[in-house]
Amino acid sequence: MFIGAHVSISQGLLGAVKAAVEMKANTFQFFTRNPRGGQARKLDVNDIQKAHELMEQYSFGPFVGHAPYTYNLASAKPGVREFSIRTLKDDVARAKTIRLPYIVLHPGTHGGQGEERGLQLVVQGLKDVLAEIDSKTYILIEGMVGEGTELGYSFGHLKSILEGCDYHSQLGICLDSAHLTGAGYDLERWDDIKEEFDQMIGLNRLRAFHFNDTMYPLGSKRDRHAKLGEGHLAIDILKKVISDKDLQKVSFILETPNDNEGYAHEIALIKEWNNI
Ligand SMILES: [Zn+2]
Ligand SMILES: [Zn+2]
Repeated sequence: MFIGAHVSISQGLLGAVKAAVEMKANTFQFFTRNPRGGQARKLDVNDIQKAHELMEQYSFGPFVGHAPYTYNLASAKPGVREFSIRTLKDDVARAKTIRLPYIVLHPGTHGGQGEERGLQLVVQGLKDVLAEIDSKTYILIEGMVGEGTELGYSFGHLKSILEGCDYHSQLGICLDSAHLTGAGYDLERWDDIKEEFDQMIGLNRLRAFHFNDTMYPLGSKRDRHAKLGEGHLAIDILKKVISDKDLQKVSFILETPNDNEGYAHEIALIKEWNNI
């Protein structure tokens, strides 16, 4: 099982791996650049090399870069779309240097243009970016909660993005237990949901899973993460999802409201559930 948390990259990639090792994680997530802006750190080849050596030493699974929230491939504004495509292309180029396997991307918000048009624009932008992607990097579209005009809250949306991109080999999916719940997917029915996902999209596309509890109930269309066991998801349900044998190669990432110590505690708890 691969389990980790969202950590800071302020001390470089090596600093992020060290923080992950300290919390007994074997994967992690970081922001590819300032989440509310667009500035990226200068890449340091030495830092990257040392980070990979440490990851190897601790048998890490695939690690995850989360794209900034400012990207919106579905925007009605050409300038915003252009910024998103250009900056995501830069993330893809940097991923090759970092040897980063996964870039998680929010599909975007249509802002009143309608879902169909929004999804079309997402596909258009992604195709442009995917034309430049390396064969070792995957863009993972994150399943969302459906707040406002947010796209990607249903497996149907995710499927239509994949389909529009001709099922590009470098495209995958990241699910989020808090988002699924807010979008109306009742995780008590995990086996049915997994089956539906497999039939519509294919489980092999599921590469990362944001493992969060949620402050808001089923179908709320609201997105606020909670610590494990402190929200609306029962421990038994969380346990069932993360122990699923079909998800053994998936990188599970905690995005719960925690500091690194809190994450270490949740990781220990999860390992206890799985007798590791
Ligand atoms: Zn996200
Ligand atoms: Zn998430």
